[in-house]
Formats: sequence, C-alpha cells, structure tokens
Amino acid sequence: MATTVTTTEIAAAAGVSLRTAQRWAQQGKVAAVKQHGRWIITVPAQLDDYKPHQIESARQAIEQRAILPSTRRPGMWTAVSSNGTTHYLVHANACTCAAGLKGRRCWHRAAVAILTAAAHRAA
Ligand SMILES: [Zn+2]
Repeated sequence: MATTVTTTEIAAAAGVSLRTAQRWAQQGKVAAVKQHGRWIITVPAQLDDYKPHQIESARQAIEQRAILPSTRRPGMWTAVSSNGTTHYLVHANACTCAAGLKGRRCWHRAAVAILTAAAHRAA
C-alpha cells in the first residue's frame, strides 16, 4: 500500500527547501496532485504494520527535521528524542530506541519508511 506525503515532508526527505519541493510538484518531478491548495504526493511506503499514532509521530518528526540521514552510514538515519537529549540510530529494519531494542516496531522506523520512499521518489 502506498502512502501520501506533503511537500514539507518531501523537502525534509530530500534535504531541499520547501520551495524546491513545491517546484518539483508543479513540474511533475514527483507524483503530485493538488487538494485544497496543498500538494499531495504519493510514495510507495509500506506502513500497514504501524499504528496510526506511530505514523502521526513519524510525520511530525519528519516535518520538524528531527530525523535526518546519517552522513557516515548510507541507509542509516539519526532520530533526536522529543526532549532533544538522546539520538537514536535508525534503519528500515532496526532502531536503537527502547522499543526498537526489544524488536518492536517504533515510529522511528515508520519515519524511515516514509523518508526512504519520499527521497527515492524525489531523486
Ligand atoms: Zn525507534
């Protein structure tokens, strides 16, 4: 199942400005449709196994750029905890947060699934 993202999320995923992401949508560089004045972009992210509140947390973190690609390790992402003191290392299939270390799905991994799909779409 695919999911939809905003230009803000695409911008964060691709590391570009919001203006650039909006231009991509206008020029058809990403699969975008305009709904109620906002661009809605479809990306092939698999989020069926995540709970709605996890997806919501993931989206907020993406918009706030609280989860960013690791510059040293391709495919790895760094997430900042909500109080800003702890950094977690996140991969599509693993995470160093408390839930992740117990093998549970966490919203960090949901965020990486969205970001990976969005970045791939924007490339
Ligand atoms: Zn996690």
